[in-house]
Amino acid sequence: MNSLDLIRKFRAALPGVQVWIDTLLEENKKQAVPVINLAFSRLQKVFSADLLNNAKAVVVTGKVPFPPLSRMGLPEFAQMETMSMAGITYKDTFFVSYLHQTESLHFHEMVHVVQWERLGVDDFLLAYGVGLMQFGYRDSPLEQMAYSLQEGFERRNLPPGVVDLIRQKTDAIWASVAPRLLKV
Ligand SMILES: [Zn+2]
Repeated sequence: MNSLDLIRKFRAALPGVQVWIDTLLEENKKQAVPVINLAFSRLQKVFSADLLNNAKAVVVTGKVPFPPLSRMGLPEFAQMETMSMAGITYKDTFFVSYLHQTESLHFHEMVHVVQWERLGVDDFLLAYGVGLMQFGYRDSPLEQMAYSLQEGFERRNLPPGVVDLIRQKTDAIWASVAPRLLKV
């Protein structure tokens, strides 16, 4: 299957993915804790109180939730479903494994929260999906950004104005994805 066909299929599956996400978030509403309430003082130096108040974290003891994409007509992503992930973000809420409740992981997921907020649900999913198809998980642009900033966070070597930087980089990623979608 060529990549345009795959993008077309991915787009067709999006409404189902959105329903899956909304159901997941609804089911976990009570367990979701605003990130500002967690004892992570360095996050508060990087992100505004507003952002940390809106963003929520859910700790999970099993696997972090991932949409059953192969059942949604996208068997190409089956490998992602079995991947063991430390954390994952859907809109303003992220899920972290209880084994990985580090400030660094929370930073990584906060980068995704800002990306989701910047792009909105549809465009985030499209940009993320196209990035996955093109580069694989680790090198997909939205992940690559999160991992490289996370490295800066760990080394205490973040550039100033990180949130603005995330927004700018996210816009640039979208600008590179959007022309590909027009051809579909
Ligand atoms: Zn990530």
